[in-house]
Amino acid sequence: MPELSTALRQLRDLGRELGTELRSLALAVDADPFDRARLERSAALDLVRVMATPHRFRPRDVPSRARPYTESCLARTVANLELAHGDAGVLNACAAPGLAGLAVDVLGSREQQELFYRELAEHRLWTFFGMTEPMHGSDATAMSTRLDPDPDTGLRLSGVKRYVANAARGGIGVVFARTGRSALSIRAVLLLRRTSSFRSSTLEMIGLRGACIGEMSFDAVPVGADLLLGSHLPASRRGIWGAGRAFNIMRLQIGAQALGVAFAIRDYVCAERTGWSGHEVVSARLDAARELLYDSSVEVDHHPDDRRAPCVAKVHATALAVEVSRWAESSLGPGGLLAHPLLEKWCRDVYAFEFMDGTSNFLRLAIAADQAPRQGSGRPPQAR
Ligand SMILES: Cc1cc2nc3c(=O)[nH]c(=O)nc-3n(C[C@H](O)[C@H](O)[C@H](O)COP(=O)(O)OP(=O)(O)OC[C@H]3O[C@@H](n4cnc5c(N)ncnc54)[C@H](O)[C@@H]3O)c2cc1C
Repeated sequence: MPELSTALRQLRDLGRELGTELRSLALAVDADPFDRARLERSAALDLVRVMATPHRFRPRDVPSRARPYTESCLARTVANLELAHGDAGVLNACAAPGLAGLAVDVLGSREQQELFYRELAEHRLWTFFGMTEPMHGSDATAMSTRLDPDPDTGLRLSGVKRYVANAARGGIGVVFARTGRSALSIRAVLLLRRTSSFRSSTLEMIGLRGACIGEMSFDAVPVGADLLLGSHLPASRRGIWGAGRAFNIMRLQIGAQALGVAFAIRDYVCAERTGWSGHEVVSARLDAARELLYDSSVEVDHHPDDRRAPCVAKVHATALAVEVSRWAESSLGPGGLLAHPLLEKWCRDVYAFEFMDGTSNFLRLAIAADQAPRQGSGRPPQAR
């Protein structure tokens, strides 16, 4: 495991402190994730929002301990694990740049980045990242949402996105759509709710309810050509493949969140059963998974386009989190969760992570495909 620098240890400690406030909101946000006033009152969420904004676009300075957050993948991993140890549901309810921000960082021109972060800072908007469709989840390159040329406005967006976080409340985000038949013709546009007219609705969720996933429906929505991302990049980096760097970072963030919840579950069970040694194997496996996440984050910092390490780490962390939730259920005995609503909530939350940013089956295929060229066969893997 990499030795954490003083700055990263301070960021980790800050994450743990902010997590305490997130946890105090956990059950209330689970019960009503749409209570905007409650989320806006949270000083911890406000700091997370600003520290997750790249340094040059931050609306105000942040405490020195928060500054490294956007400087490396390792910093994001370290902080997300601790914040999710507080509560991942509340963390996902934060009006932060999220995956849309990472995509704009990678695919956006300077002007597009300025627009995105200015809107976020001025209006404290939730963000959305529209990739998944009702009939096309894992196989994102088969998406059917279209971007057609329009003589008046530049482009028109048509199609449906589903399971998108913040779909109904997001004020700005990124939507992927195809401009032609090949996978390379998939492009992304920046969309502002206040200047575009599209329908959106919320889906009922069992776990990680703070993420508020929903559906977005675009019926020939006019989009200015200036909002098409990636036009300044080479053809191979303008769309889905260009966003690969964003996916690599986000996969590790999600793995870190899954592991943060798993640590919280372990700690909760240990607090209930003081002096009990039944957690030792689980604790050793959690420590090892954290090492893997940290190592993989360093790998991404050195090789931002190499997706093997983040895929391996996410598959492992998300599966372990589910295992730990089952261990907790059996450790407390029959009906044990009924007496522990927070634990019960975390045991629901852990199931969501596997699906976010690529399911485990799909990531396993990607890992195998990435190994294939070294063995002298194989072709570039498809989709996310
Ligand atoms: C909390 C949460 C937040 C999300 N946020 C967003 C978001 O902000 N934006 C967004 O665009 N999407 C979002 N998603 C959607 C997520 O990306 C999709 O759920 C995921 O890509 C899988 O797509 P799907 O649900 O259509 O499942 P499918 O692709 O239909 O897969 C169903 C099952 O089949 C398996 N499978 C699929 N293909 C293969 C294959 N070739 N081989 C073996 N097994 C296979 C999968 O592993 C899975 O177990 C979110 C999901 C969740 C749960």
